[in-house]
Amino acid sequence: MSKQRSGQLKMQYIYLDNNATTPCDEVVVNAMLPYLSKHFGNPASPHALGKEAHLAISRARDTVAQLVGSKPHEIVFTSGATESNNIVIMGLSPLDSCRSRIVTSAVEHKSILNPCSRKIRSGFDVREIEVDHDGLVNLYHAQEVIDEKTALVSVQAANNETGVLQPVEELAELAHSCGALFHCDAAQWFGKLPPGAWFEKCDYLSISGHKFYGPKGVGALLLRSGNPLRSVSPVLLGGGQEGGLRPGTLNVPGIVGLGVACELARTNAGKDVNDIEGLRNYLETTVVTAIPGAWINGAGVRRLPGTCSLTIPEVPASVLISNLSPLCISEGSACTSGAPEPSHVLRAMGLSREEADCTVRISLGKNNSKEEIEYAADKVIRTYKVIIDHVNS
Ligand code: PMP
Repeated sequence: MSKQRSGQLKMQYIYLDNNATTPCDEVVVNAMLPYLSKHFGNPASPHALGKEAHLAISRARDTVAQLVGSKPHEIVFTSGATESNNIVIMGLSPLDSCRSRIVTSAVEHKSILNPCSRKIRSGFDVREIEVDHDGLVNLYHAQEVIDEKTALVSVQAANNETGVLQPVEELAELAHSCGALFHCDAAQWFGKLPPGAWFEKCDYLSISGHKFYGPKGVGALLLRSGNPLRSVSPVLLGGGQEGGLRPGTLNVPGIVGLGVACELARTNAGKDVNDIEGLRNYLETTVVTAIPGAWINGAGVRRLPGTCSLTIPEVPASVLISNLSPLCISEGSACTSGAPEPSHVLRAMGLSREEADCTVRISLGKNNSKEEIEYAADKVIRTYKVIIDHVNS
């Protein structure tokens, strides 16, 4: 069981919310520390301290590029996947007057869907590909909406709520066959699965450091050179950093941390995938067997190894979670919690509002042990029984 110090209080918890964020790896923290103190220079400065910072940025850029299979100059550092996604969508200018369509999916993160809604105001025609009951995009529908008028297709690699993996390679090929560009929001892929051969099919790729044991507030956007570079305009205006595409003084400690997290992800190359998947499968089987009517969303298709989206009809997620201490899990999606609307992802998969409200997300990471998962499964089942007994009494 993990321990956390909070003032004088020693809190115990079992962290199962790794799709919301992951703990920063100790190796990453140690690499960042000198850049918060001794090596504090601005990489744009011409003196020795500036050059030192510039060198650290170059090393990180090389490492990120190596992980995603690109050239270093094709990497732009951002504040995370939200910003990377916004640059691609908001910065998109029509490739030519005949191409004004953006195709995305109904289960994208809000950092794709909200910018897409905004683009409608500037004359773009936005289409969402439908998903099936498992949350997988419908390739027949994709074929219908991706056409010669399409400028960009943007579909995520893995869903943050269900972990469902999308057929990005096929979608990229479909986009390219129509002369459109392909963007993939891969925020949930990195660190959970090994680098994919499909990366090379992406014209743009978004990543976020804190989703794979790096720091928060830093990410990257891969823009393959050639057409894509010419088709994106900066969203922020300022100095000339990052080729003018992302102005602002670079977050040197964060970028150093992102580089080390990429190095860890590359050397690990999915070594713990089977272990994490085994624990997740044990958790799901145990809980679904013990709780009548419970089900796993996306269970019929390929998913991230550690993600479990569990629906327990008639038990609101908020009630279950508030009685689950010391488990740290989230309602549907931690990113949209606080929003009154039920998860758009689960709704697109055909769940009713009530079913979506009765869904929790349990997301495992590399630090979870077998004992923790056994405890978590037992705790969910015991808590369910207490709630149901209370309702029936
Ligand atoms: N895309 C996906 C699929 C995500 O899961 C998230 C984070 N929940 C984001 C984009 C945004 O990442 P960030 O909050 O780090 O900017």
